[in-house]
Parts: sequence; C-alpha cells; structure tokens
Amino acid sequence: MMGSPYRASAGCPPVDLRDPGGGDSVHRVSTCAAPATPDPAVTVVRRARVPGRDGAVDIVLAGGRIRSVGGVVPDGLPGIDAGDRLVVGGLVDAHLHLDKALTADRCSWSGGTVEDAMAETAAMKADFTVDDVATRAGAVLASCVAHGTTRIRTHVELDPTVGRRGLEGVLRAAADWAWAVDVEICVFAQDGLTGSPDTARLLDEALGEARAAGRRTVVGGAPYADDDPAGQLDRVFGLAADHDADVDLHLDLFDGTAEGALIGTLCALTERAGLGGRVTAGHGTAWSFLEPDRRAAVLDRCAGTGVGVVALPSTDLFLTGRRTGAGAPRGVVVLDRLVERDAAAAVATNNVRNAFTPYGAGSLVRMANLYANLTHQASPEQLAACLDLVGPRAARVLGAPARTTGVVAGAPADLVCLDAPDPGTAVASLAPVRWVLKGGVRTVTGGSAQLHPTV
Ligand SMILES: [Zn+2]
Repeated sequence: MMGSPYRASAGCPPVDLRDPGGGDSVHRVSTCAAPATPDPAVTVVRRARVPGRDGAVDIVLAGGRIRSVGGVVPDGLPGIDAGDRLVVGGLVDAHLHLDKALTADRCSWSGGTVEDAMAETAAMKADFTVDDVATRAGAVLASCVAHGTTRIRTHVELDPTVGRRGLEGVLRAAADWAWAVDVEICVFAQDGLTGSPDTARLLDEALGEARAAGRRTVVGGAPYADDDPAGQLDRVFGLAADHDADVDLHLDLFDGTAEGALIGTLCALTERAGLGGRVTAGHGTAWSFLEPDRRAAVLDRCAGTGVGVVALPSTDLFLTGRRTGAGAPRGVVVLDRLVERDAAAAVATNNVRNAFTPYGAGSLVRMANLYANLTHQASPEQLAACLDLVGPRAARVLGAPARTTGVVAGAPADLVCLDAPDPGTAVASLAPVRWVLKGGVRTVTGGSAQLHPTV
C-alpha cells in the first residue's frame, strides 16, 4: 500500500478501500465497527478561523446546530480546539455516482470517450449485485467522510439491465453511513429513457417509494444518451410533476462542440413547470466551447431561471479533448458568472475510479483545487470562492437557502477543520482534514505526517 494518509488507531480495525475487484489500495481509513457515541461534551469549537472573519473565534454548538459564532464564551465549557486553523461547514458533494464507483479494474480502457465509458459500464452493470454495489458505495462514502464531506447527492441508474440492484445497494450503504454523511438519491436513466418503457416504470416506482418513505424525490437524466434528447427532458419533467421531484440532469456533455446544446430547452421547461431553484444541470461541458459572451449569456439564463450548475472537472477533463490533436480543449465550464451573480453553483466529484473517471478518492478540496487550477483562479478571493463551490454554494444547488449553511448561527453543526489559516490557502495547498463534526458529534480525526530527521 502506498501513500496512505491515515493511521489505524488501536482497537479500531482499518477499513480497506481497495477496489473490491482488486487493484492497489490508495486509502485506508481507521474506523470503528459501531458509530461513535455522541459526545455531549463538544459544545464549543475554540480558536477557529472562519471565512469572512478576522482572527480566531469560538463557535458554540447546541442541539446539533450552531448557536453562535464569535462573541464571549465562558471559560470551562468543554469542547474541541481548532488550534487557530480554518473551520468551514461540512463539504457538500452535489454530484456523485456511488453505484458505479470503484469499477476501474473491470474496464478494458480501449477507448476513452464518453461513448466508450457508457458501453463499458452498460456491460458490467449486468453483473452488479446489491452486495457488490453496497460494498463499493460504502468504501467511497468512507473516503468522502474522511475528506470532510457531510452531504452528498448521488445519482443512481435504473434500467432493465441493472434493475433495482444499484438503488438497493446505495440505499444500504447510505443507511450504514448515515451517522457521518447525509446522502440523497437522484434516480436517472443513463442509457436512454424514451425508448425504454421498463426504465420509465422503474423510475416511476422508485420515485413513488421515495416519496412514500418520506425521502426527498429527485429525478435525473442523460439526454445526450437518448435517441430523443428533447423528448427525454419532457419525460423527466413529467416524472418530476408526478412525484413532486427536483430535477438534476447530465446536460450538454459534448466534446468540442456546443451544437445541440439543450440548456435553453431546460430553462424553458423549468420556467413552465415553476421549478426555479429545484433544477440542476451537471457538466455543461459544451458551454466551455462557446465564446465568453455567449457562455455568459447561458449562465445568466441559468441564474435568472433558477437552474443550478455543477462543474465536474475530473470527469470532463478525462472525457473531452479526445477528438483533437494539439491544443485539445478540456471541456470544463467556468462558473465565475454564477459566483458573481451569487447564484447556485457547485464543483463536484461525479465519478470515482470508473470508466468515466479513473481517478479520485472523494476529496472535495482536491476537486476545488483542480477546478481552480484549470480555470485560472489565483487571488485569495478567487480561491476562497472555489471552496465555497464545494460548500455553502453547493448546498444551494441541493436546495438549501442562501446563508443557511456553513459557519453561521442556526446552521447544522456539520463542521470541518482544515489545516490552513484561510479558505484560499486551503484550496491552494490541498489542506488535509484535522477533524470533522456531524451534528456536533466528532466523526473524523485526521492525522498529520510525522517527520523523522536524521541530522
Ligand atoms: Zn454524473
């Protein structure tokens, strides 16, 4: 095993995050078999550097929420020390695929385009079992938690090939890890919807079950993979209307061209359905090939309509630029316009070590760093905005009102201490996690490398 950033603690057997099918282990997380006992003693976070405030402050927690930030805190209250480091809200992964994660070892790597990735995955889905999906999804959740993520929207595929096995496996893993991370599920058709009545039925049933169980209902799609892309959008909005569901689409994932882009259609459907604030477009790869003024117009339309946008840099970097030689475009949409307008936007993981993205460990700090690097974000303010794109701004993509998450009074006491003095440095330096609280309870203790000088 190489480069493990985690150490096992005595009495707690490590969870091996090796790909279940083989391959080298890249992460090892120390965890106990049972969830941590809630620690009522954690009531104050001391000496925390908080975005937007000068100097270190104390944060008072009560009832699983943040009671106050700053101000005078009486001595003697128990708590946890941030040591003058950055404390931010729990990180939010607005777009992840748990069901097909950690399948890189099952790929032939004969191609590399989005069509190749879809074909590889469609073939392997026939062999997915509930146990297989639950094991891989759980391994990814462990790594996400260790990297400071406390909220995830995962997309789950439904179709006649995989049936309900992916959904059931992800539901099991989400239940197992509910003590550390909130997981919401967006069901969707990866391999076409308009020509598959069975897929439509599976989606309808899953949304009905989620609603009956009191879970949030979210329906997605991948119009680029449908014989009738616009028709798929209509069907998805029909399902959303039937089940009071939010909509989250893989949209305009084209390599090297914006021809055929559907974002205008999506915005029109959103307006007609009155779903502003409840619709998300992931990828937007095609928009990166537009001239800046036309791209700005697209993002202005999204902001004005209430369509959140999620950039997925790791996947889009891997899948695009495949049809050109020198000077290949890299296909990641720049979100500056949405940040300027204070609109919903996010950077997210998408895939972890599968045919679409053979990299990743669920680190949103790494994803923010990657996005910053390739979109030329450099100033402290720009870099801080990148951390916001995997934090409070990402939460807004998932429906949280502005300024209700992060380190603000009244927000959930989901907090991450990063080994950096400020958000910009955290992104630039790939700051490691020192600890994580979920609902005021410590869920993660990070480690730091020990150096052993010989002179
Ligand atoms: Zn996706």
